[in-house]
Amino acid sequence: MELEISSISHRGKDFTKLYQDTTVNLKRLMNIPENYQIFFVSSALESMERIIQGTVQKNSFHIITGSFGNTWAKYAKQLGKNVITYDVKDSLENIEVPASAEIICITQNDTSTGFWFPMEEIYSLKKKFPEKLIAIDIVSSVPFVEIDFRYVDIAFFSVQKGFGMPAGLGVMIVGPKMLEKAKSLLDKGVSIGSYHSLLNLSSKALKYQTPETPNVLGIYLLNQITMDMLKKGIKNIRQEITQKAKLIYAFFNNHSKYSTAIKTEKFLSPTTLVFDVNNDSEKIRKKLAKKGFLIGAGYGDNKASQIRIANFPTHTLKDVKLMLREIL
Ligand SMILES: *Cc1c(COP(=O)(O)O)cnc(C)c1O
Repeated sequence: MELEISSISHRGKDFTKLYQDTTVNLKRLMNIPENYQIFFVSSALESMERIIQGTVQKNSFHIITGSFGNTWAKYAKQLGKNVITYDVKDSLENIEVPASAEIICITQNDTSTGFWFPMEEIYSLKKKFPEKLIAIDIVSSVPFVEIDFRYVDIAFFSVQKGFGMPAGLGVMIVGPKMLEKAKSLLDKGVSIGSYHSLLNLSSKALKYQTPETPNVLGIYLLNQITMDMLKKGIKNIRQEITQKAKLIYAFFNNHSKYSTAIKTEKFLSPTTLVFDVNNDSEKIRKKLAKKGFLIGAGYGDNKASQIRIANFPTHTLKDVKLMLREIL
């Protein structure tokens, strides 16, 4: 409030400096190449729509591992695209991507199921189908997930999960191939959207500006938190998350009644952990809530039979241990 962040003009120098600083810091934290751009939008769901709108003329291909992948495919359908889906809870080794697919949409970490693709799976896919655009949703694995952007054309997230921020800001990390495709669609007369089209976002971002009046306070907070994370060191943050995940998985693996929802170890999410708890979901959640620990119910149909535990940078090892002690 003292810095009057919420009343700076988004066309002024202070804002362009904030946008530039946030870009530089995010790129350092996540090892993002120089030629990738950072766009600010309203949410992750918006990013899903912009990606389809901006790069798909006819056919999009979606790898589905849970509800968020389905949501993405639904939006593509609503935008009038021909949508091909591939349901999987396994390696992508034998996947056949249709020749007509213009983009491959992947939920790298599906928060609804706790299914996580190790990035190597996604790199192999890109190596096998180098001409396809690869888009990944990293909402609930950022900043833990380590990405080699040579094999990813676009990644996006919103800030209320891994960055522990108030909701209302989405971030897109956009590579040059996405913009080339958007340009070629536009040249053909295909609509790629309006104020938040990839090309409009890009031309504004080159000047560290946004098309609309953005969530300046959100961007400011994101920059501050990114700087905090840089100070702590991304390696340390990843180590802590790995350590906490091991502890939580070990607890449930040793439990007499409960078990992990995903059965293959390499696909277990380190950041959003889902467990089958018979029908004890509500009982466990109520008990934990009394002690101040808020965990999630199962998603959709699994509401009563599963629990979901977040393991983000903000959760301390000490709190994880205290929480596990309460579950029994
Ligand atoms: C929460 C979540 C979203 C949606 O994020 P919004 O900020 O609500 O748009 C998308 N994908 C995944 C994997 C999520 O966990």
